[in-house]
Amino acid sequence: MRMCVRCDRITDAPVVVAEVHQNSGPGCHVYACRECAPGFPPVPDVLELFGGPYEGGRERGEREE
Ligand SMILES: [Zn+2]
Repeated sequence: MRMCVRCDRITDAPVVVAEVHQNSGPGCHVYACRECAPGFPPVPDVLELFGGPYEGGRERGEREE
């Protein structure tokens, strides 16, 4: 079970849409649900999704955590 990086829903069929490589340790994967994955754009720097100006995934008004 993984959380979709786009819509913040938990999916039991996650699709890897990006890999994050770190210097200090093993990389991790970024997942999207099957609904979002087919249209997922290239993500040159996925860190922007979490710490940058991008505030996506909040339009649904749920799962504020
Ligand atoms: Zn999704």
